[in-house]
Amino acid sequence: MSWTISSKSLTTDSLLLEESLFSLANGFLGVRGNFEEGYPGQSDTIRGTYINAFHDVVDISYGEKLYGFPSTQQKIVNIIDAQTLEIFLGEDEERFSLFEGEVLEYERNLYLNKGFLERIIHWRSPKGREIKLTFNRLVSFERKELFAIQVRIEPINFFGDVKIISTVNGDVTNYVNENDPRVGSGHAKLLNTLEAKVEQDYVVVMNETSRSNLRTACITSYVMNEGTRKDFIEERIVQTEWKFRLSKQAVIEKRNVYVDTLRHGENLIEQGIILQDGLKNYSFTDFLKEQEQYLNEFWSHANVKIIGDEKVQEGIRFNLYHLLQSAGRDSYSNIAAKGLSGEGYEGHYFWDTEIYMLPIFIMTKPDLAKQLLLYRYSLLDHARERAIEMGHKQGALFPWRTISGGECSPYFPAGTAQYHISADIAYGFVQYYLATGDEEFFHKYVAEVLFETARLWLETGHFKDDQFRIDDVTGPDEYTAIVNNNFYTNVMAKYNLNWAVKAFAKLQAEAPNYFKELNGRLHLEEAEVEMWQKAATKMYLPYDETLEIHAQDDSFLQKAVWDFENTPKDHYPLLLHYHPLTLYRYQVCKQADTVLAHFLLEDEADLDTIKNSYHYYEKITTHDSSLSSCVFSIMGAKIGEMNKAYEYFIETARLDLDNTHGNTKDGLHLANMGGTWMAIVFGFAGLRIKETGISFCPRVPEKWDGYECSLQFKGRDIKLFTNKESVTIQITGEPLEIHIYDKKYTVEEKLSLPVIPNI
Ligand code: BGC
Repeated sequence: MSWTISSKSLTTDSLLLEESLFSLANGFLGVRGNFEEGYPGQSDTIRGTYINAFHDVVDISYGEKLYGFPSTQQKIVNIIDAQTLEIFLGEDEERFSLFEGEVLEYERNLYLNKGFLERIIHWRSPKGREIKLTFNRLVSFERKELFAIQVRIEPINFFGDVKIISTVNGDVTNYVNENDPRVGSGHAKLLNTLEAKVEQDYVVVMNETSRSNLRTACITSYVMNEGTRKDFIEERIVQTEWKFRLSKQAVIEKRNVYVDTLRHGENLIEQGIILQDGLKNYSFTDFLKEQEQYLNEFWSHANVKIIGDEKVQEGIRFNLYHLLQSAGRDSYSNIAAKGLSGEGYEGHYFWDTEIYMLPIFIMTKPDLAKQLLLYRYSLLDHARERAIEMGHKQGALFPWRTISGGECSPYFPAGTAQYHISADIAYGFVQYYLATGDEEFFHKYVAEVLFETARLWLETGHFKDDQFRIDDVTGPDEYTAIVNNNFYTNVMAKYNLNWAVKAFAKLQAEAPNYFKELNGRLHLEEAEVEMWQKAATKMYLPYDETLEIHAQDDSFLQKAVWDFENTPKDHYPLLLHYHPLTLYRYQVCKQADTVLAHFLLEDEADLDTIKNSYHYYEKITTHDSSLSSCVFSIMGAKIGEMNKAYEYFIETARLDLDNTHGNTKDGLHLANMGGTWMAIVFGFAGLRIKETGISFCPRVPEKWDGYECSLQFKGRDIKLFTNKESVTIQITGEPLEIHIYDKKYTVEEKLSLPVIPNI
């Protein structure tokens, strides 16, 4: 089955798109899939290299800036560009370009099991010189600082002088688009070059951001066995010229090591040179081997096999691969909405992580999930400060979008007002605990997050008519803002509060030392915990008796339904064609909201209500956000509408590969990529992780013969195989109680059951 994403296209549009699709990253460093030799003159390209969390600070300009509006925001920086390698043939220096002469063969392959990108080219120059070229590149999973490129040049009919100009360019800018709120507008130039030089044969370029005072350096070395080398140093750029005679295959390797102040301290150049020295005993083949080993290990725990649908198989593998590439592995970084594949949403981290991406890592690579949560934990102080700034006496309000902890959302109705992010984060911590059983982590981190977020809910809501109500917040649906009692927010807050109460008792009983230490800082009182319990018990969850559904919020169902019939197709996404107020006045959803709540906390409503809600909200949801279709797929499966579940699933599986949202050039839709996995594992396989344990409800879409997935749960490997007739669960490790369909089984090694399609 295919592990390779291939393309033979050279059209301008597809190249721009492929810059994102073929981006390489390792959680720390990311490089877009740009051509080493560049593009013709005016070609639209976003040439990008990023370090996760490496950002500058820029002003937010408001017409009217009110109290508590953030005055600055963080923004990911496009850093030093080391991709460029230009090739010239013959004494007259004919420049190699895929847009001139004749391309006799061209293909680009991304190897999802080997971790590198390859370009194979057979080219005849306008003057008839013929060569074959192979460009291989990788961003190493094992050596996070390394981005290596290898070029092989093979003579076909041309045997003569070759010149290669390799550039390391510190003169870089960010991409801007004034007309799309999903891309940054303004602030293109964020980096200044401090050094451009050659030291011990290494090319060194060091840049610094204007305001955050973060530095990054790129230290480049070459492996080239023939020819002569000359370096040309300018203020911000170092170019290295290689000249040789092509008589047989020639190979040149460019190894770029990136370091930054966040991870490598102050002596960046020194650190980079030490890392480069350490690479000397390794060949490009060694780096490739390391990539393959790393990926073998990853896929052995994370593989999802679809039997009978090659296109979808490609989609799911591609999506998982990019998730692995994008996830930050240290306490400074997380998963940006676009990963490290582009600058859309300015490199910010959202609730996308906890609700759409964390589950995959919890269930396949828990060590990485833990790291993502530790990043959130490290933001607690910022969240406490923000709560105070927002008028609360205590508690933690996590920023809607951020890199280093400060709130970065300038548009508060669809930003700061999404208080649910604090409950989403709490939910993520609890899910991790339930799936791993990591008690120590619970005591040390989960409890504190739960306490501080529970405090926020008590601060935000109020008791009225024997109900606990939360006013003036925005739920996940960004086409409805600042409402009272958003069902999603309230039900998630309820879960948050209940778990905070449990955590209090648990910590007291199981970890008195942690309890003492924490209480010394937080000054928790029994009376406060009682109030959490009361707020949870009395939480108001709006319900409409006539429609027999949970209302999205207090006023939602009173509004007129959006006129979908008379909305032209090219007016979607609506956010690019209507003022927010217009959208707020109607029943129209950008994305799953109540339906998402029914997925995350399915025991809060009975199945009939869930079904009714699904059908009601489906009619008014545009899925203008890529975070929506997967939820409708999962819940389609839950209510037994498998065809619908499949249709929504297809939307997610190839969203970026087929560019169905039209903006993949700005970066990949990482949450949706997580959604594809969720739609299979939570949707078709029906996985749920609750306090009562793990459960499955496997079903197979009509179009497939079956599927398999690998999961981790409390130190065990679980493999699930399903075809139309039977489901088999295999466990490595201690026997495990699993709820399958309507019964509980103790699985020791293996269990097979007939599939129950209509449960
Ligand atoms: C969605 C948000 C999401 C953000 C980043 C927006 O379009 O409405 O829910 O967090 O994109 O992915």
